[in-house]
Amino acid sequence: PLGFFDGRIVELDEKIVAMEDRGHQFGDGIYEATRIYNGKCFQLKRHLDRCVRSLRELKIPIVYTYEELEEIHYSLIQASGITNGFIYFQITRGTAPREHGFPKNVIPHLSMFIRPMQTKTELQAVGVKCFLTPDQRWLRCDIKSLNLLGNVLAKQAAHDAKCFEAVMYREDKNLITEGSSSNFFIVKDEVIWTHPINNLILKGITRTILLEDIIPSLNLTILEKAFSPEFAQKADEAFITSTSLEVMPVISLGGKIIGDGKPGKITQKLQRAYREKAHQECK
Ligand code: PMP
Repeated sequence: PLGFFDGRIVELDEKIVAMEDRGHQFGDGIYEATRIYNGKCFQLKRHLDRCVRSLRELKIPIVYTYEELEEIHYSLIQASGITNGFIYFQITRGTAPREHGFPKNVIPHLSMFIRPMQTKTELQAVGVKCFLTPDQRWLRCDIKSLNLLGNVLAKQAAHDAKCFEAVMYREDKNLITEGSSSNFFIVKDEVIWTHPINNLILKGITRTILLEDIIPSLNLTILEKAFSPEFAQKADEAFITSTSLEVMPVISLGGKIIGDGKPGKITQKLQRAYREKAHQECK
């Protein structure tokens, strides 16, 4: 593992965050997590597009170009020698005396790190159990902000229940939104369902890759429409997606077995196609 802060490579345990960094005090910033396969950044452009959108929504000035961000990614890959890994970066509004309103004349802070990461192929082959829990987050889940307490509490509730991931639903309408750190999908009668893009979910890059690139190429049917926990529990198949998990089958949800309790056929098709795409693009 190796980090980057303020224009230089740093060790991960180096003390670099100022007391009054607004990320530190308010969670006032955004982040991205990207995947490195075979020494190459996978789908970096889509991640950077989302990063810029998050910054715009929070009115944080954009002071890095795509070229600079890409260059820092590759300098970390090179300096660490990590070929299969995970890069995390965050941009905070900057450092200023603690006041809720935006400070004037501050420069956003970028920090980034790389860690090794291997695809969880054994887990992908058998699938995971998911916990069902109310979605207690704010109403701008479309922004990849540093504020993750709702997600953190949901994930821990899942772990306490011996589940891998928490799948959240909004209690007012009884509709599933997404996982605590993933997007959620079901398959019913060969139609793939997932929550539509709005303020209640993050537009996952893995989700976008499936919807825009993979599902059309496999001639499968996608429906972006919200559904209830009860509907999901009666699905034929279910899966979650994220940059680190790729396409991860879900074999039970809220204590109910999904389908025959094994990764579904369509899920496995998507899983293979996604891996193949990553392999092709990161040769
Ligand atoms: N939703 C949430 C809440 C997440 O934290 C993540 C992972 N960052 C995702 C969805 C999946 O996004 P991606 O495919 O871009 O990793």
